[in-house]
Amino acid sequence: MGQHWLQPNWEPGLSLPQLPIQHLLDQGIEALMLDVDRTLVPGREILLPEPATIWIQQAQQHLRLHLFSNNPSRQRIGAVAEKLGLSYTCGAAKPRRGALREVLNQLQLKPKEIAMIGDRVLTDVLAGNRLGLYTVLVRPIRADGSPCHNDRVQQLEKRFAAWLGASQP
Ligand SMILES: [Mg+2]
Repeated sequence: MGQHWLQPNWEPGLSLPQLPIQHLLDQGIEALMLDVDRTLVPGREILLPEPATIWIQQAQQHLRLHLFSNNPSRQRIGAVAEKLGLSYTCGAAKPRRGALREVLNQLQLKPKEIAMIGDRVLTDVLAGNRLGLYTVLVRPIRADGSPCHNDRVQQLEKRFAAWLGASQP
């Protein structure tokens, strides 16, 4: 049986800075598409949590990174990208495939060599699965880099996904 479209390949119940980079390398991952809002940066903040900055610096030693955000604000996403020295897409319209295809074409990698990491099932996971990427669902990040454990939106989307037949974590 194939993988359900709303089922992430990996859901470790961790925030981004807690993800073991080695696990991604072990899967043969070469590049990361990273969601920004609530994955790298909490809520409305612009400041990056220190653990997120450190994680990005470590990941950059092994992987190609690109920020891929539905947020239409070039000012906000651009500021985060500039701080980290990363390329970015804003107004990405996940789960639609257009903008993601463009980035993937430039990478010249197989879909399974690219991980899509984000906090939303209906945008990040769905977009990545539609193009055959390795999808990672992370917990939303808090200001200290730790995971937010009672996130209503993610809980609701997971229940919805389970109702549609994605297996319960
Ligand atoms: Mg997000």
